[in-house]
Amino acid sequence: MKKTNYHTHTYRCGHGEGDEKAMVQAAIDMGIEKLGMCEHVPLPHYRQHLLKSIPAIRNIRSVLSLVRALIYNGPNMRMPYKQMDEHLDVIRQCQNEFDGQIQIYKGFEAEGLEEYYDYYQTLLYEHKVDYLILGHHFHKHCIHNCYYGKANMTKKDIYQYCNDVEKALETGLFSYLAHPDLFLQGYQQFDLDAQTVSRRICQKAKELNIPLEVNAGGMRKGLRDIQGEELYLYPNAHFWDIASEIGNDVILGFDAHNPSDFNNAMYDQMIRFANEHHLKLIDEFEFLQGNFEKFQGEYDIR
Ligand SMILES: [Zn+2]
Ligand SMILES: [Zn+2]
Repeated sequence: MKKTNYHTHTYRCGHGEGDEKAMVQAAIDMGIEKLGMCEHVPLPHYRQHLLKSIPAIRNIRSVLSLVRALIYNGPNMRMPYKQMDEHLDVIRQCQNEFDGQIQIYKGFEAEGLEEYYDYYQTLLYEHKVDYLILGHHFHKHCIHNCYYGKANMTKKDIYQYCNDVEKALETGLFSYLAHPDLFLQGYQQFDLDAQTVSRRICQKAKELNIPLEVNAGGMRKGLRDIQGEELYLYPNAHFWDIASEIGNDVILGFDAHNPSDFNNAMYDQMIRFANEHHLKLIDEFEFLQGNFEKFQGEYDIR
C-alpha cells in the first residue's frame, strides 16, 4: 500500500501551524507519495451565515466564538474567503516546485451545509479544487453549541448528525467521510442508539461506495478511560468494528494541522488500529464531482 494522505490543513484555518510548503515538505520527508491539501473550506458571505446562527445560540461559549468569527471573518475555524485564491495559487506553485517528488491535489474539508451546496458544486465545476471531503463538524450553524464534537451530546444530537451525514453523502459532492465517528467524542457510551447511528452511517457510505476515514486527529489526543474501557475519542473501536462487519472502504487521514503531525509513528499507529479492526484499507479513491447537470443553463457543459 502506498503512503498517501488527503487531509492536510495549514496555518490559514486559524488553528494550525505551517504554510503550504512546510506541510508538503514534511509529507515528502516521511515518504508520502500522494498528498491532498484539504483546508477547512472558506465560505463566501460568512458573516451573514454567522448572523443567521444567532437564534440558535444556547451558551456563552458560542457567543464568544461567534463574536470572534465575526470580527476576523473566518478564524479560528476557516480562512477568510478572500484568502482562497492565494491559498490555491500557493498549492499550484508547490505542485511545480515539488514535481517528481510528490503528487499534490487540491481539496477542501467541508460541512454538509445545504445553503452552500451550490457553492461547493461551483468549486468542483470550475476545477478550483479536485475534491471535497465531508467533515461534518456542525449542524446548520458554525457555532459551538451546534458542534458535533461538543461534550454532552444528546440522543437527539447523534440522530441529527446521522440524518445530516446521510443527506450530505447523497449529494455526490463529497469523496469521503472524514472522522465519521466524531459524534462519539461527546457521546461517551456505545448504547443501542450509538450502534444504530454507526450502522446507518456505515451502511449509507457502503451503499454509495464512499470511503470512511480513520482520523489521526483523535489519536493525537491519546487513549481515554471511557466507562471502564481504554478508547480513543475517535477513532472509536466499537464504531470501526461495525465498519469492518459492513465492509466499508477505509482511508487513513492525518488531519495534519502542523508539519510535525506528519510522522511515521502516527502512520504505524493508524495502520495498527486498522489491522486490529480488520479494516479494508485503500490508499486512493474516486474524486466525486457532484452533479454538473444541475448547472445546465448557467454554464456550458463540457
Ligand atoms: Zn474535521
Ligand atoms: Zn480536518
